[in-house]
Amino acid sequence: MQAEVRSDNKKPEIRKKFDVLIIGAGPAGYTAAIYTSRAKRETLIISGILPGGQLMLTTEVENFPGFAKGIMGPELMTTMREQAERMGTTIIDDEVVNVDFRHKPFKILTYSEEYEADAVIIATGATPRKIGAKGEQEFSARGVSYCATCDGPFFKNQEIVVAGGGDSAMEEAIFLTKFANKVHVIHRKDKLRASKVMQDRAFGNQKIQFHWNTVIEEIKGNQKVNQITIKDTTTNNVNTLEVGGIFVAIGHEPNTKLFQGQIDFDANGYIALKNHTQTNIEGVFAAGDVHDHRYRQAITAAAFGCMAAIDVDKYLAERK
Ligand code: NAP
Repeated sequence: MQAEVRSDNKKPEIRKKFDVLIIGAGPAGYTAAIYTSRAKRETLIISGILPGGQLMLTTEVENFPGFAKGIMGPELMTTMREQAERMGTTIIDDEVVNVDFRHKPFKILTYSEEYEADAVIIATGATPRKIGAKGEQEFSARGVSYCATCDGPFFKNQEIVVAGGGDSAMEEAIFLTKFANKVHVIHRKDKLRASKVMQDRAFGNQKIQFHWNTVIEEIKGNQKVNQITIKDTTTNNVNTLEVGGIFVAIGHEPNTKLFQGQIDFDANGYIALKNHTQTNIEGVFAAGDVHDHRYRQAITAAAFGCMAAIDVDKYLAERK
């Protein structure tokens, strides 16, 4: 463990050892905790700086099964947290600053405590990249979205924007034409990074208009987004588009910095799984968007949490 993490140089006291320690409190982390606690494994979640994860930043969730009328993202996460607590999970709203997976039991250090665990589930998720335009944060979940599958149906018969030129941007633009009247793709270069097949599909879609060498400068609105300002970087011409929403699809960053040097990553920087949900280290598992860059849904993250919990339970039983 790196010594520089603690500025006071004091050795932290071991507060408690747990059977399972889950890092991250999104759908994957909470679901894993519900399963491990219910299996009578003493479970601690260290929630991180945004307990509830990405869903705390969304509004209505219409596609999580079990909620016929939809549910607000924060309410869904609060309910999952209460369910985990009812099963006996201890939840600490603190941030993990270092881990030591080289020896067993594993050590997990937060700003204030050190914990030990026989098994760890990493459920730290991924963070969508931001374009950095003025108004992006202000209108997040009020017209600015980072997930077309989640929010596309809220933009029926509207004119909207997709930012990006990769496969995700093309996939989202094509998907969004099911709902929107028109989709503007804003890309900073004069050619796409997306694969040929995705490019061909997007170019063949009459509802998609491309704006090349263009950046988004500002997102404006009242209650919700109603206009964006764009700039052509070759001419410096500035224009406005009257749009109801903007989908940012410029990639995600998996939240894996903590584990560098200890866990194997795949070519895209996501945690690589070796055996079902187990990482290269026996006893350390991963669940949700931190290893899955394909599906990225609350329900798939929850499902991965369930799988990791079952794998952990089996691992702990076999160790004994
Ligand atoms: P990506 O391939 O990294 O593409 C990101 C796009 O966003 C690029 O066009 C990039 O522009 C642009 N971009 C990055 N930062 C930006 C910024 N600050 N401002 C404006 N534009 C910015 O990410 P991705 O599309 O999410 O794909 C990730 C991986 O998943 C890729 O390997 C991809 O092939 C795969 N994927 C596959 C599928 C599929 O096959 N159906 C679907 C989704 C994703 P530049 O081109 O100028 O760098």
